[in-house]
Amino acid sequence: MLVASIALVVRPVTDTDLWLHVATGRWIAEHGEQFPGNIETGLIGESDADQQRFENFANDAPCPALDPESGRCDVYEWRPMTCRVFGPPVRSVAPDGIAGGLGYCDLCFVGATPGEIAACEMKVPHEHEQAIIDGITEKGETIVAFALLPVVSSRNQ
Ligand code: SF4
Repeated sequence: MLVASIALVVRPVTDTDLWLHVATGRWIAEHGEQFPGNIETGLIGESDADQQRFENFANDAPCPALDPESGRCDVYEWRPMTCRVFGPPVRSVAPDGIAGGLGYCDLCFVGATPGEIAACEMKVPHEHEQAIIDGITEKGETIVAFALLPVVSSRNQ
């Protein structure tokens, strides 16, 4: 998310920035009240209750960076790691380094058995991302809408 924010800062103001400004504002107005975290900072809460609520938060809402007309991602070059690896089976890794379950796109594996899905696991070099995260002093987990909002707001003033 931070990478997306930085990249938008160094880019010239475009119509896409204006669109993102409106889209992120609308998205937060619509879903912010149910956000399981701090709506001022955009950080997801770390309590078990917040993490559980996050599992079901805005799951059916389109991402504000998705252009509804073109169907394209407006921050494609700076999209989060989650977006970059979505589709093939990828094993999640908790902040403590413990490997979790396999996440994958259901539409890519219609009719596949668990074994067939597991055989397609894509190994992600999480250590590269972790090295970047380790270099950030103030950090936390957020979502695309909150990562974009302060940047596009300041750019369009
Ligand atoms: S940021 Fe990720 S979820 Fe949002 S439109 Fe881009 S690829 Fe899709």
